[in-house]
Amino acid sequence: MQIRCMYCHTMFTLTREEMLVALHTLREENLQHYDAPCPRCRRATPVARKRLEWANPNWEQAYEEMLKEAEKAEQEQAALAAEATKTPPKEEKKTSSRKRHGSKKSTAQPAKTPSKKKPSAAKGKGASKAKKSAGRSTAKKAKK
Ligand SMILES: [Zn+2]
Repeated sequence: MQIRCMYCHTMFTLTREEMLVALHTLREENLQHYDAPCPRCRRATPVARKRLEWANPNWEQAYEEMLKEAEKAEQEQAALAAEATKTPPKEEKKTSSRKRHGSKKSTAQPAKTPSKKKPSAAKGKGASKAKKSAGRSTAKKAKK
């Protein structure tokens, strides 16, 4: 809900939660207006209780739902905080071990490349020799 401060004329928003809490306290204290604190001058601008009720029909039900949601959120946060304190940070070690595996693979690749170069180099020089030797060996075999 948009509210204009009656002192400095700043427009500020009352959230749904603030309005529901305000309506609850208005009923508890039997007041007819809610003092909305201005974020700029921090003075309280009175907001009529009826105006809040019009803006939030079925606000009692909404207020109870909001309380339940707040309780759930608190419980979830408490559970998360408990889990965070229980489990030590093991995830960092896992990632580092994965990186080691990757480095092993990368080091294995350069070892293969020289073995590939050897036969290609032997082909250029030994091609003629291989043909001669092959011819001799076949000739020897043929004689026998
Ligand atoms: Zn103000």
